[in-house]
Amino acid sequence: MFDINRIVRSNIRNLVPYSSARDEFHGEAKVYLDANENSLGSPLLKWYNRYPDPQQLALKEKITRIKGVTAEHIFLGNGSDEAIDILYRAFCEPGRDNVVICPPTYGMYEVSANINDVAVKKVPLTPGFQLDLEALEEAVDAQTRIIWLCSPNNPTGNALDRSDIELVLNNFDGLVVIDEAYVNFSRQRSFIPDLADYPNLVILQTLSKAWGLAALRVGMAFSSAAVIEIMNRIKPPYNINEASQKLAADALGEVEQVNEMIRILVSERDRLAAALTDQGKVIWVFPSDANFLLVRVPDARRLYEFLLGRGIVVRDRSSQPGCADCLRITVGTPAENDLLLSALHDYPDSSVSLP
Ligand SMILES: *Cc1c(COP(=O)(O)O)cnc(C)c1O
Repeated sequence: MFDINRIVRSNIRNLVPYSSARDEFHGEAKVYLDANENSLGSPLLKWYNRYPDPQQLALKEKITRIKGVTAEHIFLGNGSDEAIDILYRAFCEPGRDNVVICPPTYGMYEVSANINDVAVKKVPLTPGFQLDLEALEEAVDAQTRIIWLCSPNNPTGNALDRSDIELVLNNFDGLVVIDEAYVNFSRQRSFIPDLADYPNLVILQTLSKAWGLAALRVGMAFSSAAVIEIMNRIKPPYNINEASQKLAADALGEVEQVNEMIRILVSERDRLAAALTDQGKVIWVFPSDANFLLVRVPDARRLYEFLLGRGIVVRDRSSQPGCADCLRITVGTPAENDLLLSALHDYPDSSVSLP
């Protein structure tokens, strides 16, 4: 049975969190002399002279309206990357505990594990890029604290089978993190409505992809109030800056505009997938539930360099397990996608180069 106190690091359980001036005083006052700010303002806009809300309540209120979960179930990070790091620092004892990842997948789970001196067990996805449940069961041991799942997965683009994820959630007594960075582009629905059923479930989402706000660095984690409380306990107090909080809150008011972008990107993805298949320059276009396509080609490096010569940068993912000779191509604007297709049209068919 999942028991949060069994897995939380002892130093975190006993930690008295930093209490900022804005934690200690809520609401409006006339004079703020409590935080050593510059009361005169700044060379920029006046409203950057005050520390931002450490609890990000206005922004969480907007998120609540869209996601249907209350603030006590929401953690906001300086990108999902901060949420990933904080999960390690909260739940994995360095040099002792381990986590499981399922490659090929997002690189930060392993990087962050290394930074935190947490061992990584790798259970590769099947050739169809789904979970290998038997291998997963074998890999988990008494020191396994987190299983990282990414659905839709980066760089493969596919969503993991929902029933497999449910099986993991029901049978693992550590945290199961589902990274849903690309869920807005997917036919699969989010696990957010299932939060109440699984106290060990953490869902990561981000404003960096569908919402188009990668530069603002706003990542979201949704989980039980107990997990979120621990994450908030160890985050830097002002981890989301004022400009990002304000701009993200504004953007969250534009759901219709974002839905329209998602519709365009999904239709462009499907157009691109069909055109790439028809052109015959790629061996295989993997099915995608995201805003990118993974394609297998005869010679990934050669095509990569060719596209670069045409001013088009894609990602060579050949070094990832199961991704030999694969390029990851983000869906661009319709005009950008046309440029890609016309470059590919000009790409010499055979790998034999003429003298
Ligand atoms: C892009 C991406 C993220 C987003 O990270 P941010 O730090 O929020 O920008 C998270 N997970 C995956 C799998 C991604 O591809």
